[in-house]
Amino acid sequence: MFCPECGSTDKEMVGDICIDCFLKDFQMIEIPKRIEVQICSHCNAKLEEGKWSEENIPEEEIIYRALERNIQIADEVENEIINLEIDQMRGTIANCFVEVVGEVHGTQIEETHDSEVKILKTVCPTCSKLQAGYYEAVIQLRADKREIKSEEYAKADEVVERTLIKQSKSDKLAYCPQIAKLKEGYDYYIGSLKSARKVVEALKEEFGGIIKESPRLISEDKSTGKGLYRIWISIRIPEFEIDDFVRYENKIIQIKGIDKNRVVGEDITTKKKQNIPMKHIEDIELVKKSSEIETTTIISKSPKIIQILDPSDYSAVDLEMKDEFANYNIGDEIKLIKIDDYIYLVN
Ligand SMILES: [Zn+2]
Ligand SMILES: [Zn+2]
Repeated sequence: MFCPECGSTDKEMVGDICIDCFLKDFQMIEIPKRIEVQICSHCNAKLEEGKWSEENIPEEEIIYRALERNIQIADEVENEIINLEIDQMRGTIANCFVEVVGEVHGTQIEETHDSEVKILKTVCPTCSKLQAGYYEAVIQLRADKREIKSEEYAKADEVVERTLIKQSKSDKLAYCPQIAKLKEGYDYYIGSLKSARKVVEALKEEFGGIIKESPRLISEDKSTGKGLYRIWISIRIPEFEIDDFVRYENKIIQIKGIDKNRVVGEDITTKKKQNIPMKHIEDIELVKKSSEIETTTIISKSPKIIQILDPSDYSAVDLEMKDEFANYNIGDEIKLIKIDDYIYLVN
C-alpha cells in the first residue's frame, strides 16, 4: 500500500495512511492544561458537578482524583498504564506530570503531559451552616424537682459528644454549636433534629426520665406557606437517684438501677427485686435520699430480734431479725433509714 503522506509503500496502514504518519499526530490521552477543583477549607469536601461530596480526603488525593477524572483516553489505545505525579505545589496550584505507556495498533508508545490543578478553597453549605451556628433542635436537660449534679453534667456532656461522633458518620449536621448553661439545666443546641433525637435517646438510656418534644415556629416561607420549625426536646431526669428510697404501689423501694426502659429497685421490707416500667415513672415518689442513711450500733440480738440504738435519741429499738443480719454481732455498726417514723435496716 502507498502512504499519501510520506510515500512509503512497505508499512502497516492505518486507514489511508501508514502507521508512522498516523502516530505523528496521534495522542493517546487528552488532559486539560488547567483543572480547577473547589474544596471546602473546613472539611475538605469537594464540589463536583454541582454536588459536594467526600469529606476529609487528603489534598494530594483530591489532586490525583481530579487528574484521573479529566483524562480522556483515545479508543485505539490498549494496555495503557498511566502514571500521575505531583511535580510541585505552588500555593494552591499543583504542577502535575502525566506519563502514559500504551499500545496503538500493535506499536508501544509513550507520551507525557503537563497539567496544573488549582484548588479553590471555599466553604461548603454544611460548614457555612455550622459557622453560622445553625441548629434544628435544642435539648433541654433538666432534673425533676432538684438540681443536676456536676457529675451528671459531666456524664451528659460525654454522652452528647459520643453520640454526635457516632452520628457524624451519616449526618453532616451532627454537631453541637452551643451549650447554654442555665441554672435549671443545660441546653444543647444540635445541628440536625435527627441527631438530636439520637442524643436524647442516649441521655435517657443513661439517666432515665421523660422526653417531651415541642416544636416552635421560627419563620414562614412566604412563597410556599411552609413553616420553619425548631424543635425543643426536654428530657427530665428523675428526682431520685441510685440508692435513694422511693414509694411505689405502697412499697418502699431502694433504687438499684435506672435505664431507658425501667427503674430497678429492691423492696426494703421483703428484699424482693422490683422492676418499674419507665412509663410509670410519674407514680414513683421520692421519700428519702441515700444521704439520709444513718449509722448506729447493735446492742443485742436473738434469733428473732435485733436491738439497736435509735441515733436520734439513743433509745433502744427492737426490730425483727432478718437472714441478712444474722452474721452481725453485738457492737457492730449497722446502717438504717427512717421512713414514716419506722426504722428499716439496710445493707
Ligand atoms: Zn506515511
Ligand atoms: Zn465543609
